[in-house]
This record gives sequence, structure tokens and C-alpha cells, in this order.
Amino acid sequence: MKTETDMRTLLIHGGIDGDDVTGAVNVPIYQTSTYEQNALGELRGGYEYSRSANPTRKALEALIADLEKGTDGFAFASGLAAITAVFHLFKSGDTIVISNNVYGGTFRLLNKVFPQFGLNFKVVDTSDLEEVKQAVSEDVKAFLIESPANPLMTITDIKAIAEIAKENGILTIVDNTFMTPYLQRPIELGADIVVHSATKYLGGHSDLIAGLAVTNNKELAERLGFTQNATGGILQPFDSFLLIRGIKTLSVRMDRHIENARYIAEFLKDHPAADQVYYPGLADSDGYEVNRRQADGPGAMISFRLNEGYDLKKFYTSLKVAKLAESLGGVESLVCHPASMTHASIPEEVREKVGITYNLVRYSPGLEAKEDLVKDLENAFKESRR
Ligand SMILES: *Cc1c(COP(=O)(O)O)cnc(C)c1O
Repeated sequence: MKTETDMRTLLIHGGIDGDDVTGAVNVPIYQTSTYEQNALGELRGGYEYSRSANPTRKALEALIADLEKGTDGFAFASGLAAITAVFHLFKSGDTIVISNNVYGGTFRLLNKVFPQFGLNFKVVDTSDLEEVKQAVSEDVKAFLIESPANPLMTITDIKAIAEIAKENGILTIVDNTFMTPYLQRPIELGADIVVHSATKYLGGHSDLIAGLAVTNNKELAERLGFTQNATGGILQPFDSFLLIRGIKTLSVRMDRHIENARYIAEFLKDHPAADQVYYPGLADSDGYEVNRRQADGPGAMISFRLNEGYDLKKFYTSLKVAKLAESLGGVESLVCHPASMTHASIPEEVREKVGITYNLVRYSPGLEAKEDLVKDLENAFKESRR
């Protein structure tokens, strides 16, 4: 597809559209591990073994490359498998600079797994460009950022970070999970690699775990493709199909997620139970202008601090529509407690320092009627009032 195509169209027709052989409008699920060869050294359709390549996965990989305006896409068994594969591009002695609000599992990988192999990391507030410049040194080979970052919805200026990176020969990696390419395309802003937990908005139905990565050039694609095949954390054909199916409806889902998020954020802002509301769609939020400049919308993730006049445990159990669960971006509203759930792998003193306090609540509005979601919150506040 040409890159000028509207994103809403591209979501449905990007990548490999349908099946040329039968005319099926959907890419078939090629549930096969291997492919018969015509003769020694002579493949029939270019496929050899499904860890290396599979037509259903390939369709998904072509689709995400189109959506993110990159050269190549790669599909993995989870977001963390995608991020792990990307980390394998680096070597012992290299340092990766990450946002202080990076996803807990990403932090755990860099804090517990990769140090065993000599890959180091530095934590900075990437919303502060001066701090980012200060962090640059000879051994720094990559910036890994999220915008908005989990769970305080901190906005980082992706273009400015990519410029600092380019001046210093550093790669910019953006975890675009919260925004999706429908709202934000980091490669257009100068990033080299985009990663996704496709488990969230891209899949959109809380029924699969998947990860994606996209590169902005062929040299990186070659290396990441090698790593994908060599380390083997690939996405299965059926899950690839589910993810393609999810992506087709992303524009309508995301529009509704945002409509609901705005409504809920406005409600929370005026409610005494919420001390502070974090949502990049609120005009007085930090990073509002930067986000408007670099993205086509504020996304739909909200966090707030529950006032001490309310019982936190009671609040969670009093919600009846929103379910208490890890994850986000599905059709159903989910609420979570970052300090003990998504960010539990971050040491407490680090958590407190970056604002992931015990009373912080994260809310992922689903596609239910927004009035019902607000009623649900109103009732939970009433029930949990001390
Ligand atoms: C969930 C998540 C991940 C990890 O993805 P999995 O699919 O759970 O492995 C990475 N980054 C962000 C921002 C996430 O929300």
C-alpha cells in the first residue's frame, strides 16, 4: 500500500491483503511447521520452516511495517519477547538509557536478566531533555522510551530525543504500545525501532499475548530478523491471524476508547475522591502540547491518586463493570494497582521516587457505555468512603 493511504484504510488493507490463490478476503491460517521442497536447495514458495517464516505471520509483519511506516516488521510471542530480541542487538559493555516510567517488565529484563551478559542500563527522566543529554556517554547505544509512559502518562518529546540520539550515534527505540500507529508513528518522528505489546490495543480483545517490532532501515531489519530466527520467540500462525483481525477494527475501537477516556477523566478531575488525574487529553496536563504535536490523539489510559478519605481495597472491590486485572487496551474496562501489580518488579524506593505511590490507580476504559463506567466509579467511591 502507498504510505499516503489514510490510516483507517491501511489498518484493513495494509500489508498482505487477503489470499491471491483462492480470493479469500482474509489471510489464511497456515498452521504448518514446515514446507515441502521441490529438490535439494529448491524451495517451492520461499518458505522453509515456520520459525524462520510463516505466511500468516508474514502478513502480520508486513501490516505492522506499513502502519508504522517502517521497512520491516517482526512478530513475537509477547511484547517482552519482542523487546528481548531488540536487546540482543547490543553487546556486553553497551548501555541502554530508559525512561524512569518504563514498563515494569522491561525494567526487570534490564535489571535482572541482561546484566548477566554485561548489558548495562541507566534510568533518566526522558521528559527532561537536559537530563537525557547528560546521560549520553561513549557506551550509550540506545534510548528506550515510552510516550505516554506507564503509569503516570508522562510525555516524552520523541523527535527531540531522536535528534539527540542521531547526533551521538545512538539508536532510538520507542515502545508505542499505549498509542498504536493509529495515533503515533515514532519512525516518522526519527525513531529507529518501534516495539509493541500487541497484547493491548492492537489485539484489543484481551484474548492473546503478542509482540511486534518494526525497523526503519534494512540493515537493522537484517540484524533483527536474524535474532528473531536465532532466538526463536516467534508468534504462532493462529495468534497472527487473531492479531490481524484485531488490527482491522483499531480505528473504531480507539476512537471510542478515547471518547470514554475523556469523559471519565473529566469526571475524575471534578471529583473529591481523585487527588490528581493523569491523562494527556486534559488541556492542563504536563506534556499536553508535546503530545498534541507528535500524536493524533491522547490515547485512552488514565491514572489517578485516590484521596486518603477513601479505602483503596474497598474501592477496587466495589467496581462492578471495570474488572481488577493486569493488562489494558481491551474492549472491557480494566483497573489495576500499579504498585502491587504492573510495577511490582520495580523496587519500592524507586517506585516512590518516580511517583508510583500506593494510592495510584490505573484505569483502562473499554468500549462500554461511558455513562455506565462513570456510574460504576461513582458507586465505588461512595462504597469506599471512610
Ligand atoms: C504489556 C506491556 C509490555 C509487555 O508486553 P507483553 O505482551 O505482556 O509481553 C511492554 N510494554 C508495555 C508498554 C506494555 O504495556
